This record gives sequence, C-alpha cells and structure tokens, in this order.
Amino acid sequence: MERFYNLINGIKVPPVANKWMGSLDPYRNEDWCEIPDSGEADVDAAVAAARSAFMSPEWKGMSQTARGAMLRTLGDLITENAQRLAEIEVRDNGKLLTEMLAQLRYLPQWFYYYGGLADKMEGGVLPIDKADHFVYTAWEPLGVVAAITAWNSPLLLLTWKLAPGLAAGNTFVVKPSEFASASTLAFAELFEKAGFPAGVINVVCGTGQGAGAHLVAHPDVAKIAFTGSDAAGRIISRAAAGELKHITMELGGKSPNIVFEDADLDSAAAGVASGIFAAAGQTCIAGSRLLLQRSIYSAFLDKVTAMASAIKIGDPMDPATQMGPLANTAHYSKVLNCIASAERAGCKLSFGGKPIDHPAGGLFVQPTVFNDVDNNSELAQHEIFGPVLAVIPFDSEEDAIRLANETDYGLGAGVWTKDMARVFRMTKSLQAGTVWVNTYRSLGYMAPFGGVKGSGLGRESGQEMIKSYMQMKTVWINNSTQPVANPFVMRLG
Ligand code: NAD
Repeated sequence: MERFYNLINGIKVPPVANKWMGSLDPYRNEDWCEIPDSGEADVDAAVAAARSAFMSPEWKGMSQTARGAMLRTLGDLITENAQRLAEIEVRDNGKLLTEMLAQLRYLPQWFYYYGGLADKMEGGVLPIDKADHFVYTAWEPLGVVAAITAWNSPLLLLTWKLAPGLAAGNTFVVKPSEFASASTLAFAELFEKAGFPAGVINVVCGTGQGAGAHLVAHPDVAKIAFTGSDAAGRIISRAAAGELKHITMELGGKSPNIVFEDADLDSAAAGVASGIFAAAGQTCIAGSRLLLQRSIYSAFLDKVTAMASAIKIGDPMDPATQMGPLANTAHYSKVLNCIASAERAGCKLSFGGKPIDHPAGGLFVQPTVFNDVDNNSELAQHEIFGPVLAVIPFDSEEDAIRLANETDYGLGAGVWTKDMARVFRMTKSLQAGTVWVNTYRSLGYMAPFGGVKGSGLGRESGQEMIKSYMQMKTVWINNSTQPVANPFVMRLG
C-alpha cells in the first residue's frame, strides 16, 4: 500500500515512533494508503524547522516581490498538478472528481491574488505632533502559523490559510485531517519546485488529540488557523487564549435557505438541492435548514423531494455521478444515527433516510428530507454534515428572520425572492457571515468568508485578510540633537 510521509524541513520523513494509520477510500470502504500517526517529537521537529526558516535570511531577507513571484509560480504548478491532486482528494474523502477538479483548477487564483498583494502592504510615515520625531509603521509577519484543517476540502481550506499567510512572510506547520491527509502531503511537494526555502512549509500528519493538540500548545506557534468542528474549535481557542496566540476559527454551520413565495421556484429548488446534497451535505455551508413560506410549502417540497430522488449516486470518479459516499466510517454512523434519532423524536421523513447497499461497498446514505420540522428540534439545531434536509414552514418575513437566526451558528444563509426591498431587509437582519441572494455556495478569492456566533472568529479570503497574518510595528526616530527636557516624564505633547 502506498505510504505518504511527513514533510519536515524540505525532507520527506517517517514519524519518529514509526506509527502509521490507514486512510480510507470511502467508495470502496477500504484503506488505500498509509499516513504517519505523528507524535510530539514530529511536531517539535516541524515547528523547529518552521521557526528556523522564519528567521533565515533566505526567507526573512527575501523581498516581498520575490515572495509574490514564488506564490504565482506555485499557482502555475497547482494547475499542472490539478488532476493528480483532485484524484487523491477523491480517494480520501469520496467527494466528486468534478467538484474537486473544479476546486483545484480555481485554487491558483488565491495564490495569484495574494502573490500580488505581497508587496502592496504599505505601512506609512505618520504626520506626528512632535517636530523632532520621524514616525512610521510597518507590517510584519507573525512567525510560525499552525494550519489545522478538516477533511472535506483539504486543499481549498489549506489554500485559504497558506496564500495570505505566506504572502505576509510567515512559515507554516500544517496538520491536515487524519481522514484526508494525502493530498496535503502531495501538494506540499510543489513548494520546493516553486522555489520556497526548506522549512517554510512543513506537514505533520496525525490525530487531533495527538499531533494536533501538541501543535496548538507549542510555545513557538504564533497563530492557529483552524477549520473544523465547533467542538474542536472551542478547545483550541481555549488553549490558544492561555498562550495569547492569534487565531482564526472557521467552524460549522446550520445554514438556512429561505424561499419566499415570489422566488423563481425552479432556481430556488436547484439552489436548495445543491446546498444540501452537493458533496453529500459534507460542507460547512450546507443549507441544512430549508425555511419555506407556507403558501408554496407543499408544491416546493414536492420539487425538492423529486430532485432528491433523481440524484445519481455512485462512483465519485465518474463525471456523471451527482452524489458520492460519506467520507469515513465514524461519520457515516454519526449521520445514520442523527437520522434515526430524528425519526425517534417524531420528525416526519418525506424522502430517504436509509443507507444504500452499493456494490462497491461504499459508505452511501440516501439524500434525506424531513418536513414540518420544529426549528427547536435536535434535527434543526445540530450540524449533521450529511445529506439531510430539515424543512421548516414560515408565514411572514419576520417569522423567517426569527427562525433563521434562532441557532447557535451563523455561517451562511440563502434568500430566494424577487423583491429587492425584501433583499435589503433580509441581508441586514440575517445573522450570518455570508448571505447569498438567489444563489448559494458561490465563493471567490476576493470575497471574505467566515462565520458569526458559533460558526467562527475571523475571516478568510479578500484583501483585508492578509492582515490577519501580520502585525503592525510602529517606529519612532528622534532627529533632535537637543537633550531631553525631563527624562522622567513621558513625551506626549
Ligand atoms: P474536526 O474538528 O473533527 O477536525 C478538524 C481538524 O482539527 C482535524 O485536522 C483534526 O485532527 C483537528 N483536531 C481535532 N481536535 C483537535 C484538538 N483538540 N487540537 C488540535 N487539533 C484538533 O472536524 P472535521 O470532522 O475534520 O470537519 C468537519 C467540520 O469542519 C464541520 O463542523 C464543518 O462544518 C467544519 N468546516 C468548516 C469550514 C469553514 O470554513 N467554516 C469548512 C469546512 C469544514
């Protein structure tokens, strides 16, 4: 079986304790490769390499323009390797090749965009009220960043951290999900080809509680850029607070897709189906609650159910497949348990809800629709991260806003209407990091992304976000040759 190795200081290395984990191909339900189950010694070595690269003249002394050029070269290399990397991701998480390839082909844009920004982060000379002083500010990198990522889109989530973080001049230790590490390890090899000095990017595989927790606690890590569950995000935030580390938290969601009676109902139905069944619902922005105006409730529910029943389920490598398996065994059981417990709680199942006995042996679950769901129920409040839609009726716009916001999460929200006045009222009232109007799941390198409330802290993508990987230094230079009037009083006036 193929083995992937950690990457530390530019060298592929086995874990110090020689412990390995299988990585599952969820379509065949069998391990397809082995990855390191790293421990503290591996993490320590990776942080030491990143620290030393951060201080090295090759990286610290490199001009911002040269850094930007390297990021653009990396973008080109990703394009050349897109097919291979996408196929690795599909083996690891069972998502569709069409989706992963689309992501990989678009990923270079983040590297081009932040590569362009690398030499445009201007500090500035300050107009200062002390004639004998020259004062300026400069943006500087933070140091070693720990990037910890989830399994659902490993390279996309990593790119959102690496592109601004490297443009800012940091170095990285990456801890990918133990359920999908292989693409990150293959991807990391491209950095050397793009000209990055050894140690700027290091990858250590392992579990969250093992390698992940040790990385978070490491005193030489300045920032933790995390994507994953809110449960892990809270543990990591607490650990980071104890050491005053910078954090970005991209966490889960229970996003509402809100359909009003005046919407283009065909587009809305397609958006709703894509919002929850694309990637088998394994996206942080899954529109897992459908808030449906009562006047169109049953007609629209029929439309969505018909779309769910027509979804072509199968081999994620096949371009004709519309929904693949769930990514791993524990997650598969969790999703089926959520469905079973919703049924036990009396939720009405309109479609699906069963595992699929697929000849390949994969971890398939039917697209599932529950209707007339109580917004306070477990089904409507807990992130399932699977192809499970909770349909909730509403009467008025106020009702829709209240239901949409009555959740601990706030990642995305979709609004489907032709009424522009309503669009402005809704976008203002919805508690979500992103609101999509008459569209869903649209993302871009220039548009900030992230959550409010339990969905996270900070944003990724967009021009401003390079600053979340930087800190500002203020420099005061005294030009005066005169002695200080009174050295025991602070110079204010
Ligand atoms: P997870 O929280 O179980 O794991 C995410 C990563 O954190 C993994 O690499 C894991 O090993 C690591 N980890 C777990 N506990 C840790 C700890 N105590 N210390 C350090 N590292 C730890 O999440 P998952 O199951 O991999 O991913 C699914 C979750 O990710 C969902 O909640 C989903 O909504 C969320 N997600 C959010 C976004 C976003 O951008 N907001 C994007 C994708 C996924």
